[in-house]
Amino acid sequence: MTGVKTTCPYCGVGCGVIASAEGTIKGDPDHPANYGRLCSKGSALGETIDLDGRLLAPQIFGSQAGWNDAIDLVASRFSAAIRDHGPDSVAFYVSGQLLTEDYYVANKLMKGYIGSANIDTNSRLCMASSVAGHKRAFGTDTVPGTYEDLEEADLIVLVGSNLAWCHPVLFQRIAAAKGARPQMRIVNIDPRITATSDLADMHLQIQTDGDVALFNGLLQHLAAHDALDQSYIDAHVNGFDAALAAAQGDSAASGLTAEEIAQFYALWTGTQKVVTVYSQGVNQSTSGTDKVNAIINCHLATGRIGKPGMGPFSVTGQPNAMGGREVGGLANMLANHLDIENPDHRDAVRSAWNSPTMCTKPGLKAVDLFQACADGKIKALWIISTNPAVSLPDADSVAAAINNVPFTVVTDIMARTDTGDLADVLLPATGWGEKNGTVTNSERRISRQRAFLPAPASARPDWKIICDVAQRMGFGGFDFETAGDVFAEYVATTKLSQEFGKDLDLTALEGVDYESFAPVQWPVDGKQRFFADGAFYHPDGKARMIAVTPPTLEAGTFTLNTGRNRDQWHTMTRTGKSARLGAHLAEPYVEIHPDDAAAMGVDTAELVTIYGPKGKGTFRALISTNVAQGNLFAPLHWTRQQSASGTVNSAVTARTDPTSGQPATKSSRVDASKCHVAWYGFAVSAAAMEPSRPYHAIAKTSTGWQAEVAGMKPPRDWELEARNITATERGDAAVMHDAATGDVRVAIIEDNKITALFFASTSPVVVARQHAATLIGSDVAGLAALAGRVSADMPDPGATVCACFNVGVNTLRDAIGKGATTVAALGEATCAGTNCGSCKPELAALIGQFQIPVAAE
Ligand code: SF4
Repeated sequence: MTGVKTTCPYCGVGCGVIASAEGTIKGDPDHPANYGRLCSKGSALGETIDLDGRLLAPQIFGSQAGWNDAIDLVASRFSAAIRDHGPDSVAFYVSGQLLTEDYYVANKLMKGYIGSANIDTNSRLCMASSVAGHKRAFGTDTVPGTYEDLEEADLIVLVGSNLAWCHPVLFQRIAAAKGARPQMRIVNIDPRITATSDLADMHLQIQTDGDVALFNGLLQHLAAHDALDQSYIDAHVNGFDAALAAAQGDSAASGLTAEEIAQFYALWTGTQKVVTVYSQGVNQSTSGTDKVNAIINCHLATGRIGKPGMGPFSVTGQPNAMGGREVGGLANMLANHLDIENPDHRDAVRSAWNSPTMCTKPGLKAVDLFQACADGKIKALWIISTNPAVSLPDADSVAAAINNVPFTVVTDIMARTDTGDLADVLLPATGWGEKNGTVTNSERRISRQRAFLPAPASARPDWKIICDVAQRMGFGGFDFETAGDVFAEYVATTKLSQEFGKDLDLTALEGVDYESFAPVQWPVDGKQRFFADGAFYHPDGKARMIAVTPPTLEAGTFTLNTGRNRDQWHTMTRTGKSARLGAHLAEPYVEIHPDDAAAMGVDTAELVTIYGPKGKGTFRALISTNVAQGNLFAPLHWTRQQSASGTVNSAVTARTDPTSGQPATKSSRVDASKCHVAWYGFAVSAAAMEPSRPYHAIAKTSTGWQAEVAGMKPPRDWELEARNITATERGDAAVMHDAATGDVRVAIIEDNKITALFFASTSPVVVARQHAATLIGSDVAGLAALAGRVSADMPDPGATVCACFNVGVNTLRDAIGKGATTVAALGEATCAGTNCGSCKPELAALIGQFQIPVAAE
C-alpha cells in the first residue's frame, strides 16, 4: 500500500500506521510496536481527520483574528504578568498528545527563558507515580521493559490495567504469544472484571488500593520460601532489610482470600520469567508511587529485572507521555532526565540552551497549578492540546479556576471544547496527519509522526506557535525552521546525560535524516537493555528497594473508579467523530453491582446520580457483577459538549499521591442514588442535536445523530418536544401517544424521507437503536418506523460489538446459536473480530453467555 508512514496518536503502544490523504489507514507491517496490527481506534483514524468542528483561525475574545494580533496579545500579556508579578505568575498546562518537538520548546520557553517551572502536563494524570517510583528505585525514570519481554515471559501479571481496551494491540500480542505457548500464565489484578480478564488464567478482584498489601505480602513470601536472589541483592540493591521489615503486614488487606493469595504467590515464586505490567490502576492512587515500588521491590529482590522476559513494566497511557518525560515535561523534571533540584544539572541545561535565566525549583503540579489559578496566583495561563475542565478531578472547580485567571490561552484543533469555551484567546493547531514530529512509546521506541495532509486554513504546528510567542516575547533560541531542527537540538542536548551519568543519551541520533527516520528504541548505543549488567543510576550504582506500607483506606458509601472505553479516546474530540466508534457505547454509564442497584431501587438502564463533595454527574445504570459491591465504574470520556451531566470528573475528588502529585481518580468516596425522572427519551435525527435537557447525551450515527434524553416533567406538546430535541422544524409529524402506557412515538417526514424519530416513555425506552438510526433518510412508511420494530429485510443487528464491521450483539447471538462457538468461527460467520481484533475478548464473553450448554452424555 502506498501512503505515508506515521504513528497512531492515541495510546502508548505507539503503533505504526500507513496513511493517505484519501483517509485510508493501515497498520505498518514493518513497525516493531504492532507489525501491521491496529485496534478499533487506530483503524478508524481516517474517519476523524475531516475539518468538521475544527478551529481554523485564531480567536481573540470570541472574534476571529489574525496570527499577528494573536501572537502579539499572548506575548504581551505573558510578558506583562512576568514583569508585574514574577515568572511564577504564569503557567503552561500541556499534554501527552504533544509531539516531542512541541514539548521540548514549551519546556525550554518556560524553564529556561521565563524562568519558572510552572509547566505541567496531563501526563501527571497518567504515569507520574511510575516516574516517581522509577526514580526512587533506579535513580532515574527508566522503563526497563520491552514488548518482546511480554512475549517471552512465562508469567504476565497485569496490575490495574485493562490492557484489552486501553492498549489493545499490546493485548493482542500477548494473546498471540499465549496462543503459541499455552503454558504462559496470565494473572489479572483489578478491582473490576474487565475484557482483559477473559485472557487471564487467574483474576484477582483486589480491593481498591490493596496493591501494596498484596506485593508486600509477596516480598514476605519470597523471603520465607528461600526465593530471593541474595547474590543479586548483595551486589546490586540497597534497602532490602528496611523494605522487608516494612512489608510485615497482612496481605489479607488486599481484600483477596487466603487461597487466592497463596495461588498467586506460588505462581510468582515458581516462575523465573515474570513481567509485571501496570498502568493507571496503580498510578492513579494516593498510594500510587508506593504501589510502583512495592512491585519493583519484588523484582529487585529476585533479580528478575534487566533480563529477557522479566521485569516491572509501566505502560504509558498517552502516545507521547514518554517523550514528554524525556524532555522534562513535568513540573518537577528537567530535560534529558536531569534533576531540577540539582543546581549543576540546572546550570548545564541553561548553558546548553544558552538561556538568560533558569527555573530554580520545581513548579506546580497539575492539581496545585489549577488551585493556584483558583487562588488568583496565576495571571496568565496557556493550555495546550488538552481539556482540563473535563479531565482533571473536581472538574467543575477546575473550570471555575480557569475562568478566574485574568488571561487564558487555549491551543487546540477543535473550535469547541469545555476548556476552549473558557479561553480569552484560541489558537488553532495542526492535528494528526497535518504535523511532523516524533513520539516515544511505552518501550522507549521513538517514531516519526508525519504529515500526509496540508495544514488547514490558518492552523500551525504547536512547536511553531510556541516559538512564535517566545520570539515575540523577545527571546532568542527559538528560530527553528522545521520540526527537524527542534529534534536536532534536543538530540544534541542529550549529551548532558553522559556528563552526569544519566540514562537518556540520544547523541547517536545526531545527523540522522529526519525525513526517513525509522523507529528506534533507546538506548541507541547498541546496549541491548537497561539494567542487564545490574548497574543502576543512584550515585553508588545500585538500585533501591523502598520501604512501603499499605495506605489507610477511607470510608465512604461508594468507591468511584474511572477509566476508558474500548473505542473512545480521552474527551472524544477526535474519536467522537466516528459513528462506528460511537456505536460501541454511546452514552455515559455507570457500572453498578446488582445488590447496590436493588438497594437504590434502580432497574436496568435507569439513571443514577453520583455525588462527589463538590460536583455530581448522572449516568445510565449498567447493572453488572463486574464491579464489586460498593464499587462504581464510570468512563472518563463524556464532556459538557456531548452530555448534560456525564463528566464523571465533576464527582471525582482532587486527592493526590503525596510523592508524585498524581490524582487518585480511581478511588473517590462518593454517594449515589437513583435519579428520578418523569420520562425517558431516545431520538435519531439527520440534524445535529443539542437537546439541553436535564439528562442528555448525543452521539454520531451513520445517518446523523442520536440522543438519549430524560425530563423531570412531561412536556405539554410532544410533537414540539420531538422537533426541539431533534432540531427538525420542517416536515410532517406523525405522532402516536398511548395515554394508558405513556409511550410516545413521533416520526418526522419530509419529501417522503424520515428525517427524525423520537421515542419517549415513563421507563427507559426500549427500541432498536441501531435500527432506528438506519431509518433516517429512508422512505420507510412513517407508521412502520413508529412501531420501532425491525422488518424482515432490515434485521436489527443490536448494540455494536465489532466496530470495524459494525457487527451487533443480535447478529452474534444468532451466529452462536447456529454453532459458531469459537472466536474464529464467529469471525468466519460474521467477520467480527477479523480486522483489528479489539472486540475478541467481548466475542469470547458472548460465546460464554449465549452458548447453549450441551447436556452431559
Ligand atoms: Fe493506536 Fe490502538 Fe495501537 Fe494504541 S493500540 S497505538 S490506540 S492502534
